[in-house]
Amino acid sequence: MDNHQVLVLNQDYQPLNVCHVRRAVLLVYQSKAEMLENGSGFWHSEKDLFALPSVIRLSCLIKHPPLRPKLNRAEIFSRDKHTCQYCGRKDLELTIDHVNPKHQGGPHVWENVVTACLHCNRLKAGRTPEQAHMKLLSTPGVPQYRYGYSLPRSNGSIRHEWRPYLGLENEPKLAVE
Ligand SMILES: [Zn+2]
Repeated sequence: MDNHQVLVLNQDYQPLNVCHVRRAVLLVYQSKAEMLENGSGFWHSEKDLFALPSVIRLSCLIKHPPLRPKLNRAEIFSRDKHTCQYCGRKDLELTIDHVNPKHQGGPHVWENVVTACLHCNRLKAGRTPEQAHMKLLSTPGVPQYRYGYSLPRSNGSIRHEWRPYLGLENEPKLAVE
């Protein structure tokens, strides 16, 4: 068995991740997964020939918790694309602004924090945007990240037998990031 990678689907056919073919064979052997595609060649044992999986589907549904990023400066800046949410500038020193100020009872939650440049933060000066007659460029919220799984490429694209499971049947040239 060489370095073949196997696409692992959840029980509901959603792509979960990619694992080594050895692990995939073990999961199938232990009845923890079923083989859907066998594009990884064959493996000879003493007396048998086994098809090696290329795509497997887990027997049980794995529930992964929704990705809720940690609330910190870096994540807030990243969500707001390093842009002041009041003036739209990117080139000034950035700070964190509580939209409803803490001393007015504003909580430290995703929905109440935005990126603000030092200038706008000073201008706002502990007031709500309404009180300061300032307008937010967008309504802050919890950033939505796609569930991430990394797919190795072959010749700049992913393995052809994975495509139907990744919804890529009609996009033969697309490389999945
Ligand atoms: Zn600003």
